[in-house]
Parts: sequence; C-alpha cells; structure tokens
Amino acid sequence: MNTRIVLKSRPVGMPQEENFDIQSVPVEAPGENEMLLRTLWLSLDPYMRGRMSDRESYAKPLEIGEVITGGVVSEVIESNIDAYPVGTIVSGMYGWQSHAIARPGDYRLFKVDKELAPISTAVGVTGMPGQTAYFGLLKVGKPQAGETVVVSAASGAVGSVVGQIAKIQGCRAVGLAGGKTKCDYVINELGFDACIDYKEADFAEKLAAACPDGVDVYFENVGGAVLDAVVPLLNAGSRVPICGFISAYNATSDDQIRTPEMVLGALENPPEHRFFIVVEWVEEFEEASRALGGWIKDGRLKYRETIVEGLENAPEAFRMLFTGDNFGKLMIKVT
Ligand code: NDP
Repeated sequence: MNTRIVLKSRPVGMPQEENFDIQSVPVEAPGENEMLLRTLWLSLDPYMRGRMSDRESYAKPLEIGEVITGGVVSEVIESNIDAYPVGTIVSGMYGWQSHAIARPGDYRLFKVDKELAPISTAVGVTGMPGQTAYFGLLKVGKPQAGETVVVSAASGAVGSVVGQIAKIQGCRAVGLAGGKTKCDYVINELGFDACIDYKEADFAEKLAAACPDGVDVYFENVGGAVLDAVVPLLNAGSRVPICGFISAYNATSDDQIRTPEMVLGALENPPEHRFFIVVEWVEEFEEASRALGGWIKDGRLKYRETIVEGLENAPEAFRMLFTGDNFGKLMIKVT
C-alpha cells in the first residue's frame, strides 16, 4: 500500500494535525517507460507552508486533497526503464508519500551519486537547501574576500551552508540563530567568526559589535525584527539575497506581513536586493552538488540533520521548522 499525506484543509497560522489526512491507497504498477519508487527520505522545508495557503505566491497552491509537495530520496523498486534499473537511488519531487510512479524527464528527477556523500544529503546539504545557499550567496550575494557576510537561521539547512561557503570565499561570517546551543554550534563546529542569539534583548548591540566594518552581504532567511537589526549596519554597495522570511509564513492576515522587499525598498539608499528561487539555476544543480560534496570530503563543509522516523509523523515534525526545534536539515526517515 502507498501511505500518503494530503492537504485536508488550509491551515490558519501554525499548521495542525487536522489540516492533514493520512491515507492508504494501493500502489500503482509502473507502465511502459515508468518506474516505481519507494521513498527513503522526505525533506521537510519551510516553503511547503506557502503551498498550503491560497495566498498569491511564485508557486501554485496545493489543492485540497492533493499530496503535499516535497523533495524525496527514493529507491527504484520496479522499473520498465533501462536507464533506471531496480536499486537505483534517485531524488525528485514526489511529495509526502511512501511510493510514487516516476518517468524520465520528471521535474527535478536526478540520479543520486552514492559516492558523493550519504544519500540523505541529496535533500539536504548536497541537494536543494545546499544549492540554495550556493547560488543565493555566490550569484546574488557576490561575496568578495575580506567582506562581512551575515546570515540568519544560521544553524539551519540553508544558513549553515551559507556561512561556511562565505568562509571558503575568505569572508568574515556572522550567523544569527535562536539560543546559545545553536550559536555555540555555529561558531565551534561550523567555524563562523561569530553567532548572535537574536532572542536576547541586546541582540542589535551585539550584532553591531560582531560587525565592526558593517555588513556587505546579508543573506535573508527570516525577515521581521532580525532584518530590522541588520538594516542599519548595511554598507554602501551591500547586497541582500532574499531567500525567505520564515517569521511571516504563519501570519494569519496579509496586513501582518512586511516582506524584506517592502522593508529594503523603502530605505533612502537601499542595498542591491532581490528575491531569488533556487530553481533559477536548475541547469547547474549537479555542478553545485559536486562542489558541495567536494567540500564535505575535504572537511570544509559540515552539516547536521534532524531525523524524525515515520511518514505519519511528518505533520508534527513540520512544525519544528517554525518553533526552531529542528537543528540542521529536517527530514523524515520514511523506510
Ligand atoms: P531551517 O533548517 O533554517 O529551519 C528553519 C529555522 O528558521 C528554524 O530552525 C529557526 O531557527 C528559524 N526560525 C523559525 N521561525 C523564526 C522566526 N519567527 N524568527 C527567526 N527565525 C525563525 O530551514 P531552511 O534552511 O530549509 O530554510 C531557511 C529559509 O530559506 C526559509 O526562509 C526558506 O523559506 C528559505 N528557502 C528559500 C529557498 C529559495 O529558493 N528561495 C529554497 C530553500 C529555502 P532558530 O532556532 O535559529 O530560530
């Protein structure tokens, strides 16, 4: 049987169990030029919250009754395609379900290189979140050696990679994260120069002290009060890749939302800034994965995963992204 989780109702604020329906349906047999996948790892990502709303966005909202969108790492267990024999490991966008039918040419279907890094990383540090950090920082942030790069959600899937690539580029890397444990990890394990706990009352003063030469690149993941503290430190000529603004994803009305574009665009001298989506560089994904895998191998890129077992726990685990209870890349071990 295929266990799948569909959107039962649109969440208002933080998603709740009642917004999801766990269903069991017969597994389909693969037809000509098709293969049957069994999901091993399911990635849980903040963008999924946007798909659950019908608010206007860059991506189409999920329909009620539709399987929740999601990146997975899967094993081919039946195949009618010579290029994908049984046992092949792939990554793709097959959603919150235990099995899926796939075809060559499916959107973002890739073979996973088992030699590159553990296969779970194909939805983490060598996959979409790592690629987001790679392209967002290098192509939009354009860091130069000696510059100061600040990144929010710094212990997370994207932010942790941003700061480490900044270090590889010869920059000063300053992270922002919630709590001492995460900040200690960001400095001591990931090698950032500083990390400031944005939940502390004197956060803005501490951030200013950690950036004595101002901020040249701010990689924006959270928005809200964190962005407000970074704005006065932005240097002339600074760049702000807008990756996301998770602090607003559970807002219950549009009036509560101040997007980073709104905040930065209203400044007298705005920095160079734009919202980007990682799929802008989909043609270069494999090249980025190889670079990220290489840095893991030579010890310059470290990562951490929060693994929750069992697909049925995905709705509860998903909330961890918004409470900060995940520590590093959040994923479900499905099989
Ligand atoms: P993370 O692994 O960083 O997990 C989310 C983290 O966000 C939490 O652990 C928490 O960390 C922090 N957070 C949650 N709520 C708040 C809040 N109200 N204020 C401040 N921090 C908060 O997630 P990802 O790395 O997967 O995603 C990070 C960002 O990147 C998101 O905004 C996401 O939408 C965006 N993204 C954008 C992509 C693109 O193509 N543009 C692609 C992928 C991701 P803490 O405990 O430190 O507060």
